[in-house]
Amino acid sequence: MTRPGTGAPGLTAAVRRTPAATSRRPPARRKRAKPDPVKAWVRRLARYRPNLQQDVRAGLSSFYGTPTWERRLDPTSELILTILTQNSADINAEKAFEALRRAYPGTGLVVEHHLGAGWGGEGLPPGAAPDWAAVEFAPIDELTDVIRPGGLANQKAPRLQSALRTIREARGDYSLEFLGELPATDARAWLTQIDGIGKKTASIVLLFCFGLPLMPVDRHVERVAKRIGLIPPKATADDAHELFLAMLEPDEMYEAHVNLIQHGRRICHARNPEHERCPVAARCRFVNPKAP
Ligand code: SF4
Repeated sequence: MTRPGTGAPGLTAAVRRTPAATSRRPPARRKRAKPDPVKAWVRRLARYRPNLQQDVRAGLSSFYGTPTWERRLDPTSELILTILTQNSADINAEKAFEALRRAYPGTGLVVEHHLGAGWGGEGLPPGAAPDWAAVEFAPIDELTDVIRPGGLANQKAPRLQSALRTIREARGDYSLEFLGELPATDARAWLTQIDGIGKKTASIVLLFCFGLPLMPVDRHVERVAKRIGLIPPKATADDAHELFLAMLEPDEMYEAHVNLIQHGRRICHARNPEHERCPVAARCRFVNPKAP
């Protein structure tokens, strides 16, 4: 009997039961998950160059000391200052930030100190944060002129305003203090959705303002790490952030970042690195391709 709307009785079921119909079907192949290249690299390093990151950290801290984390600016100021350093010298970014403070003075705000660990400038003098609403709504030509001493002002003025606008629209004010309550990579993801904010800028803000375990990879960190062989020679800066996160313990991040930067600035220069003074030369693949 045919039930209304079901076609021939039991036809589908019959086909399903036919042994020939199922036996001819090749067994489903399980797709192998692609190995995670970050984990694979870290495993390979541990196997073929045991204790490399530990020896490098120990060598650098015996030379440069062990930096103690201390908050240097409020996170919004740190973000704006870090945007001002993008492709500019830290010392010029300081001039631009100081100019913001003078042109758009904040009132009744906490006086900030800039302590400067890992920083390539001279350190900002204590002072209140600029009035961020005044910066966001400033005429663009005026803001561009104010931050001109920092370099690339035509690009950075709209970037500053767009970052401040995004924060205000998402949060109702300019405070980024809430990020300190989030897991490190969630906080980084929040910041990197802002136009012009990549992993490096976000990681600087979160590491220096909250001590969140992230590794900002700037050109010094990247160069030194590639020469030693801590990260693959062709790793992108974006990959390098993830490689360090997989390689280091959370409480090793700040020290490793500050000392790798110091090493890149003081000894492992882009040109003419001073191998003879280097505390980690014994493990560096740049001077010895067979270094352990
Ligand atoms: S040995 Fe030379 S290249 Fe290697 S980390 Fe030291 S200074 Fe840099």
